Amino acid sequence: AIPLVVAINTSLAAQNGMLVRDRIAMEDARKLDAIIFDKTGTLTEGEHGVVGMVTIDGVDEEDALALAAAVESDSEHMIARAIREAAHERGVDAPEADHFEAMKGRGVRAMVDGDEVYVGGPNLLNHLDSDIPSDLRRFADEAGENAQTVVYLVREGELIAAFAMADVIREESYRVVDALHGLGIEVAMLTGDSQDVADAVADELGIDTVFAEVLPEDKDKKVQELQGQGKLVGMVGDGVNDAPALARADVGIAIGSGTDVAVQSADVILVQNNPMDAVRLVKLSTASYRKMQ
Ligand code: ADP
Ligand code: MG
Repeated sequence: AIPLVVAINTSLAAQNGMLVRDRIAMEDARKLDAIIFDKTGTLTEGEHGVVGMVTIDGVDEEDALALAAAVESDSEHMIARAIREAAHERGVDAPEADHFEAMKGRGVRAMVDGDEVYVGGPNLLNHLDSDIPSDLRRFADEAGENAQTVVYLVREGELIAAFAMADVIREESYRVVDALHGLGIEVAMLTGDSQDVADAVADELGIDTVFAEVLPEDKDKKVQELQGQGKLVGMVGDGVNDAPALARADVGIAIGSGTDVAVQSADVILVQNNPMDAVRLVKLSTASYRKMQ
């Protein structure tokens, strides 16, 4: 009977916009103790807009924006798009930049007019060991409390500006957390963004466990951490950064327009970009396998 049930259940899954790459994982979905969600683009819209900025004394806002846009000109990251868009809206032209380098989960680096310039978040500052001037610190604290992502502009080792970007929590995310709690499943969130922003989003959604300021290469360790507590762990994500965590999870779930790497590391692919499908997956697994034991 098993092959028949599996056949029914994979075609049912397909009808519900779920592509099953690993049938064992499909069966395990009903037993999950915890599901970890990537924050940006999964629980939030992932469409940042620059909502505020601050510079140190002697640095002009438009110059800082132009410099940041120059460094971000080669990046596909949503933060990069937001900064370029903000520069464009203010009619600011970015200077030429070269020697671009993407620093995964930290930020970007480039050379502009002979200066080494970085744009990045808290992980970048840790990496550069830069001190935050007190007015920038205040700006960042306030932004973080409002769940705004902050990135910093560093020129020749000096932190000269900060930008705050607003992302929006997806409407579906509230129902996802409630529904999983209703099924007795712990909800966790994993992000490279700051602790402040992560906490604000988690509070708003009622998320149980928060992993913030996690570097891409450490994301799978957070999955392991929960597994080490004896839990069966699902992971939902879309980015290249999420691939090792998806592979590590007992049930790896790639969502939406997931990158190829994410899709290849996942057990189940949610075709539509709707986190509620993670709940449907658990329910479908329960309905399909309940009678088999
Ligand atoms: P997430 O874990 O939320 O999916 P990422 O791993 O892509 O996010 O990025 C984590 C953090 O790294 C961002 O919140 C930001 O601080 C920094 N970062 C990554 N890429 C860029 C970039 N192009 N410009 C500025 N900051 C960046
Ligand atoms: Mg992501």
